[in-house]
Amino acid sequence: MNNFDEITKVLQKNNNFLITSHVNLDGDGIGSELAFYFILKKLNKNPIILNQDRLPKIYDFLPGSDKVHYLEDNCIDPKNIDVGIVLDCSNVKRIGKTYEVFKNIKTIINIDHHKSNEKFGGLNYVDSSVSSVGEIIYELINFIDSDLLNDKISTCLYTAIITDTGSFRYSNVSSKTFEVASNLTSHRIKPHLIADNIYNRNTYAGLKLLGKALLTLEMDSSNHFSWLTITRKMLTETKAKDEEIEGIIDIATTLNNVEISILFRETEDNKIKVSFRSKGNFNVNKFAGKFKGGGHPNAAGCLCSGKLDEIKEKILSELFKEIKSCEE
Ligand code: 5GP
Ligand code: MN
Repeated sequence: MNNFDEITKVLQKNNNFLITSHVNLDGDGIGSELAFYFILKKLNKNPIILNQDRLPKIYDFLPGSDKVHYLEDNCIDPKNIDVGIVLDCSNVKRIGKTYEVFKNIKTIINIDHHKSNEKFGGLNYVDSSVSSVGEIIYELINFIDSDLLNDKISTCLYTAIITDTGSFRYSNVSSKTFEVASNLTSHRIKPHLIADNIYNRNTYAGLKLLGKALLTLEMDSSNHFSWLTITRKMLTETKAKDEEIEGIIDIATTLNNVEISILFRETEDNKIKVSFRSKGNFNVNKFAGKFKGGGHPNAAGCLCSGKLDEIKEKILSELFKEIKSCEE
């Protein structure tokens, strides 16, 4: 693994940077991308952010959110990029179609907090003890020059931290997480406004979708596992957007005594996306790995091809088999 000194030297020596994160961008992905973008700007470099997926609306308040580029813009020639920066991705496939550009960039810096990270970069910085990549970027900024931190960067990093910790509720929160968040709040950010932007801008369609999703709630006979299902039909009927599915799994997780929650959903491109959440010791990252997915011990996912009912059956029976073998 590389250290901050080695990464900083690469940042200082080069000029043109391309930054990306994973498909289905979340708060840690976009918050870390934008924070990195602003640091590079302050260092008089030329950074560009390129993502496969459109930015979910809940993040449009972030400073710089209008600066994100997409493949359709056709504006990036990899020959003009010195360094690619990949954030919050356990493997390079997670960047989706932007791989077509990144595969032609000579130097890749991989910064992540997934234990299962495949160290696919020329330089790799992976710390699975932190809540979010946002926490790592905060440390990196302090290493380079703590004066670089300003209100814009702090807003982005605070967003990364609260979204990856479920607003400081998950097991990835440490005293260090609070220390970083506290330091960020000293930079004139408004935590309540950030939370309002992210959590209090549901649409009518989004809440209708939540209602439909909750009607699909099922539990096993032990009441320890719950699962929800979202079909294309439900999205069409409610007119909700795919990005409005974010957060629905967390409601199934609030069930008393439930240890594992699963959300099965049909994607726009005819695949089945499965999200796993665990409140106990069951490692959903390992379990998702059985289906070529991954993530963190308490939050993971995978993408499957096939019919919704068949995938559900396959994953649930595998889960019950595994739980049974753990109990024996
Ligand atoms: P979500 O269920 O919210 O999409 O994802 C939860 C976490 O699981 C993400 O932060 C990410 O770490 C991981 N994850 C989700 N889908 C995949 C996937 O298809 N492959 C891998 N490797 N990780 C995933
Ligand atoms: Mn993350």
